[in-house]
Amino acid sequence: MDKNIKSIVLLSGGLDSSLAMRLVIDQGIVVIAVKFTSPFCTCDQGGRCFSRVVAEKMGVPYRILVKGEDYLKVVRKPKYGYGKGMNPCIDCRIYMLRKANELMEELGAKFIVTGEVVGQRPMSQYRRALQIIEREAGLEGKIVRPLSAKLLPLTEPEKEGWVDRERFLSIKGRSRKEQIELAEGYEIEEYACAAGGCLLTHREFANKLKDLFKHKKRLTWRDIMLLKLGRHFRLGANKIIVGRNEQENNLLFKLKQKTDHIFEVPGCGSPMTLLQGEKSRLGVLFAARLTALYSDCQQDQVQVKYGRNNPFRAIIVQPLIREEANRYNLTLQKIQ
Ligand code: SF4
Repeated sequence: MDKNIKSIVLLSGGLDSSLAMRLVIDQGIVVIAVKFTSPFCTCDQGGRCFSRVVAEKMGVPYRILVKGEDYLKVVRKPKYGYGKGMNPCIDCRIYMLRKANELMEELGAKFIVTGEVVGQRPMSQYRRALQIIEREAGLEGKIVRPLSAKLLPLTEPEKEGWVDRERFLSIKGRSRKEQIELAEGYEIEEYACAAGGCLLTHREFANKLKDLFKHKKRLTWRDIMLLKLGRHFRLGANKIIVGRNEQENNLLFKLKQKTDHIFEVPGCGSPMTLLQGEKSRLGVLFAARLTALYSDCQQDQVQVKYGRNNPFRAIIVQPLIREEANRYNLTLQKIQ
């Protein structure tokens, strides 16, 4: 084997991609690990992603590629549809592989390695989906999937003799048994996330995202960061976000836009509430009543202050009752 052949491994930090990387390293291939991330990613363990841990352990150079805001268009209108939540897995993989393809040229790599397993994921890992992804990413014959290689058509690296197909595997299906046994043999201990690390697969998050798509045409990552904070309510053209703790209150304040209004109850434990959209009388009243509900103030009438940058105007309101608030809570509704 030519020892100078380079490849890019898409390393999620999950078990499958870690094993796939190990299997190509064992064949003398020079490997660069690439991790894609975005605000939809939840597998960051206190600022340290598992993929980095795995790459460091295997002594492999590591790169993080942050998905651009163009990815939001993919999520909004995926050509191949969604999985159970708002996860456009086929389009997402096409997106990542196109970016990896560009990087491949830059780094002089000859092929890409993924941890995909035939038939493991309902949407993106059926044989036909794998073919579509490969074709649309412009990588036909250039993706090696070591865990299922023997079940798939010959790839260019196999034909060229850069890797030996016989040393790859023929795993299929959803059982993780074989991978777990292999991981023990390789002493791969720290593995996590995989699909569990993607907010787009979570039902509650999907609800909030659908609502956002419905009401806002142009999105930025800031909008997505806000979806991760607080309780979300929709009242007509107004979106109201209520912080759940001090950390969220601070972040909401940081992420607010000039046109947003902030609400709080002075002199007692209070959430920071954000009112987005045109400042209607009803919107202000609703945001104030929600703020009173989630504050520590237990009175029938509560003074709430609000304003654009400083909450300087005052309004006296009756706290909303929880059942009523729930009717507008986006995570509790079925949004089409
Ligand atoms: S689970 Fe999320 S990150 Fe993974 S392929 Fe699907 S949409 Fe992309």
